[in-house]
Amino acid sequence: MSQLALLGGPKAITYEGTGKHDGSDVFAWPIVTKEDEDAVLEVLRNGNMSGTDVTKEFEKDYCAWSGSKYALGVHNGTAALHAAMYGCGVGRGDEVICPSITYWASCTSALSLGATVVFADIDPYTLCLDPKKIEAKITDRTKAIIVVHYLSYPADMDEIMAIAKKHNLKVIEDVSHAQGGMYKGRMLGTIGDVGAASLMSGKSFAIGEAGIIHTDNREIYERAIAFGTYERFNKANIETEYLKEGAGLPYGGFKHRMHQLSSAMGRVQIKYYDERCREINEATNYFLSLIGDLPGIGIRRCDYSTGSTMAGWYAAVAFYKPEELGGLSVTRFCQALVAEGAWAVKPGVNLALHTHPLYKNIDVFGDGRPTRIANSNHDVRELDCDLEVSEAVGARTFRLPWFKKFDKEVIEQYANAFRKVCENYKELLVDDPGNPENIGGWFFFSHTKK
Ligand SMILES: *Cc1c(COP(=O)(O)O)cnc(C)c1O
Repeated sequence: MSQLALLGGPKAITYEGTGKHDGSDVFAWPIVTKEDEDAVLEVLRNGNMSGTDVTKEFEKDYCAWSGSKYALGVHNGTAALHAAMYGCGVGRGDEVICPSITYWASCTSALSLGATVVFADIDPYTLCLDPKKIEAKITDRTKAIIVVHYLSYPADMDEIMAIAKKHNLKVIEDVSHAQGGMYKGRMLGTIGDVGAASLMSGKSFAIGEAGIIHTDNREIYERAIAFGTYERFNKANIETEYLKEGAGLPYGGFKHRMHQLSSAMGRVQIKYYDERCREINEATNYFLSLIGDLPGIGIRRCDYSTGSTMAGWYAAVAFYKPEELGGLSVTRFCQALVAEGAWAVKPGVNLALHTHPLYKNIDVFGDGRPTRIANSNHDVRELDCDLEVSEAVGARTFRLPWFKKFDKEVIEQYANAFRKVCENYKELLVDDPGNPENIGGWFFFSHTKK
């Protein structure tokens, strides 16, 4: 009989978990304690859900923690990116440069500002924007570069900042995957002009549906306020002269106010966040030390010796090398791991945004042409072969389990599952269905066992 669970053998992973968010489960996230519950209940019992006092305290906590001068809490990460773009002056006819491999909210709201998105390819190892691919994409309309610290990996900020400086561009850091992570000793989100992050429940900093913008630049901060938080857009708050006249109504026509059940939870979570990330780091690094030498697997991890970190290892991936496993597809490889009990393992990452119809031919605003072109003075659309690394990344990556607790036994069970699959790969070649055309997804990273 085969050793592989997929072919009738025993499962390598017997860990069932408690499924509870009280810190007893190796995977459940976020960890919610009585302190979170009390903080949330206080808001609820005071009928203070739509106020701003708790949110303002949370913003102060976030500033103290990140070292930023200003922070603005909003109702989700999408709004944070939208307001950050407006904050940087992105408007009609402008172009923003963004990686194509990211969640859509990194850049899609640029369209609603009358701007367009130009995609640049990613680096095959970091899976973040490749600095070598940026300059060819810059035109006289480029306003900003949106950097995504993708799946917890800090992007090459030194090179990106140098390019931005040379061309007088703003840099927006999308920190939704890497809150609290470091790049050469500096916190992500504080290196560019503005950081914007999702704090929704699936992310590593998880407090419900929420987002945050943080910056040292008063004008960007105030423009973000003007865009979607009318109750704070008033003469007492605003120092930027040209904004004063419009105070009182939101320029974007949006209402971005953060829900105070989330900010209350955020005030508690931020106290324990670094400590919890340390445990995640310890667990993940131990796991990687057990699987790193297996054939077929390549580790994706930044160089800690430079002061960079992998933050909370949000949705971390490893590289898949089919050539070391007789050409076995990543699809089949992951099926075998799931059968062993590694339920969260999946092939691929996000699908490349530039291949989606919204970025090819959808006319959102009735211009009679695809919005992506209508919002610029030239056709910015890529061909399907223009972003080689982005288009091929799905077949050579897979998602790792996200350990929140350093539980040696569970981690070793998972490592044994990987070892077993890698060592017995030949048996999997027989019925390998191969990969589908698109590997990965537009909506991806679920973090609870289904
Ligand atoms: C989740 C996410 C967002 C959007 O955040 P929401 O809170 O879901 O609106 C933006 N950018 C990236 C990279 C994300 O993963």
